[in-house]
Amino acid sequence: MSIHIQQISAFSDNYIWLIINNDKKQAIAIDTGDSEPVLNFLKNNNLELINVWITHHHNDHIGGVDELVKHFPNVQVFAHQNHGLNHLAKNLTLIDENDNLTAWQYSAKVWQTFGHTDSHLSFLLNVDKKIHVFCGDTLFSGGCGRVFTGTIEQLFDSFSRFNTLNEQTLFYPAHEYTLSNLKFAQVIEPNNENIRQKIQTCEQLRANNLPTLPTTLADERLINPFLRAVIEPSDEMIEQVKSRIDLANYDKLTVFAKLRELKNSF
Ligand SMILES: [Zn+2]
Repeated sequence: MSIHIQQISAFSDNYIWLIINNDKKQAIAIDTGDSEPVLNFLKNNNLELINVWITHHHNDHIGGVDELVKHFPNVQVFAHQNHGLNHLAKNLTLIDENDNLTAWQYSAKVWQTFGHTDSHLSFLLNVDKKIHVFCGDTLFSGGCGRVFTGTIEQLFDSFSRFNTLNEQTLFYPAHEYTLSNLKFAQVIEPNNENIRQKIQTCEQLRANNLPTLPTTLADERLINPFLRAVIEPSDEMIEQVKSRIDLANYDKLTVFAKLRELKNSF
């Protein structure tokens, strides 16, 4: 039995990820912000939706859930208690840190990855020892989510935690923000050759209307300024940040927080 992971585009730049089991003709969807593209895909591929996993409560991640429950009355929705889906009652299973979700014979560990919100979860699907992380709006390729109801310290901790994973780990963020993130990354590290090359690769992909995702932890360690700040801010990064904003000291959290501040107005 094999599974594969499929992206569905929604709105202008969201991705809804599906884990598909072709033998069973079943699918699990992550962050169904919109129902229509999901329903179309399932119908065209003759798939039954069995689970929905929700990373956080923003409408572009949950907006399609009610409609999907109408079409698939037996679907189970897995979400944190603060995700505002309690009206789903029998369709809802509340989840939190360290719970395990199942995807047929595979399992996914639930991690709290707060920062973007104060109840954001990520799902670490283990397929034959390879980890696939559905990270919502926590980590984007080349960047990170804005801090809304969480704190910058929480976001820093979430990135530190991601960084403990194997470098072959794959990340599946919920937005195609890679190129705009990389433009910021290049300003912060103008001499980083990996960023320059990644921009070229991603421009090619986008020109062919292909996603730049998923991304690997190994790649992000080379190009994502936020992850790089968590590991060890480069001299060039400190110099560029300092030239744009008051930098009281050079510790990792301070640099990370100032990068987020700069990115907010980039
Ligand atoms: Zn969000």
